[in-house]
Formats: sequence, structure tokens, C-alpha cells
Amino acid sequence: MTFDLDIKNTVRTIPDYPKPGILFRDITTLLADARAFRRAVDELVHPWAGSKIDKVAGIEARGFILGGAVAHQLSAGFVPIRKKGKLPHKTVSMSYALEYGTDEMEMHVDAVQPGERVILVDDLIATGGTAEGAVKLLRQIGATVVAACFIIDLPDLGGAAKLRALDVPVRALIAFE
Ligand code: 5GP
Repeated sequence: MTFDLDIKNTVRTIPDYPKPGILFRDITTLLADARAFRRAVDELVHPWAGSKIDKVAGIEARGFILGGAVAHQLSAGFVPIRKKGKLPHKTVSMSYALEYGTDEMEMHVDAVQPGERVILVDDLIATGGTAEGAVKLLRQIGATVVAACFIIDLPDLGGAAKLRALDVPVRALIAFE
């Protein structure tokens, strides 16, 4: 599809970042391209235009940029999911898998009400450990996770399949094999 190519061409690939052997997909070049940024947000929200979405939850930090734009487009509220210790009010937390070991993510306990319909947004899904933690965190406080949206999927790492196994529909605009 044309939009796939347009968007894909605006993602910059940085070899050996943050460590040797990793190909980092840098979306700052996509965000800086007005047409690509608009198109990416439009395509992310497309399936839910006109349906009732209460909140968009964005994962720190690139998920905040996209999630804010998506929330605005859907007339939904925005909820930040942050690394431990960053939020000022009472939080709920969830540990999640990193490449080596685990970490914790948090959200405000009153950010989502039980039964609210939430879309999760991040820039990229790789192993799915981060998004899986966010889904569990949202479900822990009674949210209905309607879908998880990403600009980029790295399908070889299995993250999207992991989320689908949790009954979360996954939308990703482009893939790097
Ligand atoms: P996962 O938990 O799925 O293995 O990793 C996804 C998380 O790591 C996301 O929050 C994403 O922002 C970040 N991430 C991992 N690799 C990349 C990459 O190549 N590019 C970008 N932009 N983010 C990445």
C-alpha cells in the first residue's frame, strides 16, 4: 500500500544502537515529517473513527507523542503509562520483561475507570514484553483493552502474536522483517 511505503521511508535505521548488533528504528524522522506524522496518526485511528473510546494509554516515552495525537483525534482522554517513580499520585504497578531481567511500569490508580474502553499506543512492538505489561496493568484496574496500536512491528520477535494470544487485537502500520 502506498501509505506503508511513504511512512516506512521516513523511519531512519541506526545500526549498533543502543548496543552492537541492534538495528534501531528511529521514528524521530517520521515525526519531523508533517505528512508522514499526520498519515501515521490517521491510519492508527482509522478502525475506531466514530466508535466509543474512553481513553488512549501511551507508553513512555514515544507512546506519549503518538498517543496524545491519537487521543485528540478520537476525542478520548490520554493516560500516561510511566516508568516506576515518575507519577505524583497513588499508582498501580506491573512488572514486565526486559531483554535481561524485569522492570516496573505504573499508572495513576484513578486514570481509568472499570469498564472504560482503552486503546494502547506505542511506537514499536518487538518482543511484546512492554505492551504485555501495559495490557495487564490496564486490565488490573478493570479497563477493557480494545486494541494495541503501533507504527512498527518487528514480527520476527513475536510481540504481536503474544498480544493476540491475550485476546488483544493488534494494529501495526509497517513491519521490518
Ligand atoms: P518490547 O518490549 O516489545 O521488546 O520492546 C518495545 C519497546 O522498546 C517499546 O516501548 C519501544 O519504544 C522500544 N524499542 C525497542 N526497540 C526499538 C527500536 O528499534 N526503535 C524504537 N523506536 N523503539 C524501540
